[in-house]
Amino acid sequence: MPRLVEIIRGYLVERAIPPSRVSEISIAIPGTTDETTGTLLWSPTVAVEVGSVPGPVSEALGIRASMTNDVNMMAQALHSRDPGRFGGTFATIFIAYGVGMGLYINGRLFTGAFGSGAEFGHANHMPGGALCRCGRRGCIEAYVADYAIYRAVENLPPDLSPTEIDPDAETMRALEQRARDGEDRVRMAYHQAGLALGYGLSRLIALLNPQRVAFTGRGVAAFDLMEAGFRAGLERGAGGRAGAHDRDRGVLGRGRPRRCRHSRRRDAAARPRGVCQLRPRPGRAAEAGWRRSARPADLKA
Ligand SMILES: [Zn+2]
Repeated sequence: MPRLVEIIRGYLVERAIPPSRVSEISIAIPGTTDETTGTLLWSPTVAVEVGSVPGPVSEALGIRASMTNDVNMMAQALHSRDPGRFGGTFATIFIAYGVGMGLYINGRLFTGAFGSGAEFGHANHMPGGALCRCGRRGCIEAYVADYAIYRAVENLPPDLSPTEIDPDAETMRALEQRARDGEDRVRMAYHQAGLALGYGLSRLIALLNPQRVAFTGRGVAAFDLMEAGFRAGLERGAGGRAGAHDRDRGVLGRGRPRRCRHSRRRDAAARPRGVCQLRPRPGRAAEAGWRRSARPADLKA
């Protein structure tokens, strides 16, 4: 904590900003936060003690301080900058040393009942699969994060703790280059990462029907390497949802209306309109949605 205070103080001094001119310090932190109490409940990557973070910062600097999950703050930034594009129900998915998500539902940031909602990276991709930083096995993050890709490329045991694997940006750039040079093992690791991401996103779409999904974080630099797997996972997982009824909303549109098996059931007439009655044309499902949402402008959150 003293180190954090020192960094903020140094920043203010360096830029000659008197503390009296700062109305609030907002601290973005990876992990689970309880924003009502300013408490850090769990962090996978930051070596700070669990507990109150903004309280001591505020006390030491005499400036009001608050704290939120870092990807939530990215989603808030997008919403604040362009509420027309990033409004309603949308998600920001962060890919780098971990995988996180900031989620808006009906125009409001969603954090769940206790601040740990929208943990996209820790949704399960593979039951009993590779070890995740959270301690569980098979999370999406355990296939998509930097450490996961490095672990797969180097053929390290899937239960090797992520805390023992910490590839830096330079290492990841070198891996990306090896993949682009055609090295099979590296290409396969990125393909598997894309699959995990695509399947995960298909579940998110089935659950929440978001208008837009923006990807951000260092891992986006390797998106071309994940793209084939991503599309495959998304299309296989999209199933009976994300169809033509979304086409004007920029999610996964361009689907041709088709009747799914549920609409042939006797109780189909009693189903709400738009629920499981259309499905996307195979091969086109992923295209519009995320081409539109993954434009470079969206990736600089
Ligand atoms: Zn996890």
